[in-house]
Amino acid sequence: MALERTLILVKPDGVQRRLIGRIVSRIEDKGLQIVAMKMLQITPEMSRQHYAEHVSKPFYPELEGFITSGPVVALIIEGPEAVSVMRTLMGATNGRASAPGTIRGDYGASRQMNLIHGSDGVDSAKKEIAVYFKDSEIFATPLCITPWSWAPEEA
Ligand code: UDP
Ligand code: MG
Repeated sequence: MALERTLILVKPDGVQRRLIGRIVSRIEDKGLQIVAMKMLQITPEMSRQHYAEHVSKPFYPELEGFITSGPVVALIIEGPEAVSVMRTLMGATNGRASAPGTIRGDYGASRQMNLIHGSDGVDSAKKEIAVYFKDSEIFATPLCITPWSWAPEEA
């Protein structure tokens, strides 16, 4: 096991629907740590960097229109196996198929407007973090609760 970082976005639909607090609460309740967080509007160029693997796909133009349509909240989340823990919390891509109890499963019924982005691997997390954050915007301060959140050998 290892301490990982993952790039999370509350997408424009999550901001518009006033779900920022509920989504961030689920991440904190799970016991993961927020080490960076800000609101911003994604530009088409940032979208092409972020979604490099999807740029040539038929759905990309619509996806770019959606993700640049309004403000998002970007976070870096840290914890043991944070990448896969967040993917499990988020649920499947299509909100109609994602399980109840997951963020996408509880709050949406769309494949595109699925409220939250989370990196799909440690390497993509590194690339995505660099799109949104400078090193000086990341606060890796140990929290007083960390010793009660996971055992040393899990980090
Ligand atoms: N998406 C879409 N149409 C599709 C597939 C995906 O609009 O047919 C959007 C959706 O918002 C999704 C994002 O593109 O979250 C990235 O797709 P991916 O397959 O990487 O899903 P994710 O990793 O977000 O679960
Ligand atoms: Mg993906």
